[in-house]
Amino acid sequence: MRKTQVHEVSIALSMMDELTRIAKENDAKSITSVNLRIGRSSGIVIDSLKFAFDAIKLENSLIASAEIHIEDVPLRYKCSECEKDFELESIHFPSCPFCKSFRLKILSGEEMDIANMELEV
Ligand SMILES: [Zn+2]
Repeated sequence: MRKTQVHEVSIALSMMDELTRIAKENDAKSITSVNLRIGRSSGIVIDSLKFAFDAIKLENSLIASAEIHIEDVPLRYKCSECEKDFELESIHFPSCPFCKSFRLKILSGEEMDIANMELEV
């Protein structure tokens, strides 16, 4: 558990660096809101990431009052055999629910992105 939290804190810190860099480039007074997209297979626990953000943002006046929204992106695959696409919860040995093939391409669910942010300039 402890290891997981360290992971989320380091991700929050690097996203925070990116957000403040963008804010400074735009001569912003502050960041008012941030939307993140986090995929189910990214290995990030969304609650832990939100907790980490809420804790560290207070140390940075640019982002201290920002609202952080995190979108949980489901895991979608496309089957290379039958060409169907579908959502799955599992990331461990996923197989196609239609033809049972293991030859799957991942379509979404690996995201770890800053989708957009609002700045006050
Ligand atoms: Zn299939």
